Amino acid sequence: MLRKNRLFTPGPTPLLPAAQTAMASFAMHHRTASFRDLFSRVLADVKDFIGTKNDVLVLSCSGSGVMEASISNLTSPGDKVLVLTAGKFGERWRDLAKAFGCSVEVLSVPYGETFSLDELRHKLKPDVRAVFVQSTESSTGARHDVKSIAKLVRSAGDTLLVVDAITGLGTTPFDVDGWGLDIIIGGSQKALMIPPGLAYCAVSESAWKRMETAKAPRYYFDLRKERKAAAKGESAFTPATSLFAALGAALEYVREMGEGDLAAGREALINNAELAAEMTRAGAQALGLKLFAPSCPATALTAIQSPVGLDSGAIVKEFRESFGAVVANGQGEMKGQLFRIAHLGYYDYLDTIGVLGALEHVLSDVTTKPVEYGAAVRSAQEVYARYSQRQTVSAVARQ
Ligand SMILES: *Cc1c(COP(=O)(O)O)cnc(C)c1O
Repeated sequence: MLRKNRLFTPGPTPLLPAAQTAMASFAMHHRTASFRDLFSRVLADVKDFIGTKNDVLVLSCSGSGVMEASISNLTSPGDKVLVLTAGKFGERWRDLAKAFGCSVEVLSVPYGETFSLDELRHKLKPDVRAVFVQSTESSTGARHDVKSIAKLVRSAGDTLLVVDAITGLGTTPFDVDGWGLDIIIGGSQKALMIPPGLAYCAVSESAWKRMETAKAPRYYFDLRKERKAAAKGESAFTPATSLFAALGAALEYVREMGEGDLAAGREALINNAELAAEMTRAGAQALGLKLFAPSCPATALTAIQSPVGLDSGAIVKEFRESFGAVVANGQGEMKGQLFRIAHLGYYDYLDTIGVLGALEHVLSDVTTKPVEYGAAVRSAQEVYARYSQRQTVSAVARQ
């Protein structure tokens, strides 16, 4: 059969057609009034998308660039920082903090799990200058309880909290200002449905204040310089101009999802990911597969364990070769043990049902155990049907 290439990876994700069109022939110079208009509009929309009153920046780099900026702008060499790590992206925080000379305390849990708040309470000594965490650990498919973590960090004094929500924004709700998140980070190639190359963040007043005394070296990623430029509708260096055009179109799409209200559109996007994730978990489990992070499954993606004795690389390969579907293998030590299916951004019902249907064929081809065709699809449909029923009931209740 014909195969269409489709991404089911937790970044990059499928591109929104309107965003592709917007960037296709975009050729505006970045120091012009028209680009300043676009830039300022995008920043205002990103602010609504994050749901914050804090200043927002959009930088031309991948998500890790703003992770690095958070370390280099908030810390001085020798500062004690606490990194919460439960996977490859948590380890990235640890390595970045070390690279900038921080004295790094680590609270780690095994891959696939999330943190104990009691252990966090013990580690939160008054001399901890900042805490770094993921909201969704994309390497394991685990979601962390950012609200409770923030509550503990807030009670610890003037410790700053930095959240890598690169796969969290647009898949999980945050009350950025209410919870007191000092920096929250997102990336363009995740829920925002455009190519890699932009990363965005919201920065609290406490974080801006810390930057006045923080001494780690920085140049390209100098957030105070970017803040000053952004106030004039510009970035300090040449921005990825066409990606700004794409981002503008993507945020417009989210606004349409909310019938003209960007915050409502964000909720709709989150609900969409939640439903796709629930359908996928039900489908995988109906085939006898086990989740990799069963106690705290993410909505951005689902990590599924490979059946015992089977390298997940075989599953990834079969998906690609038979169906043109790119699912992600495990990263690092998890390679071969699991595969990951994304739900963040531009995925709909047919994508979700389609990938589960394909999973049934893939398993049938790479394992010896008989597969009951339709089992995954049916379970996902049942989840969807219950959800539709709930929607109808609440619509009736509103009348
Ligand atoms: C994708 C991702 C990143 C950023 O990776 P880049 O390749 O630098 O964009 C960071 N953290 C998480 C949790 C991610 O999913």
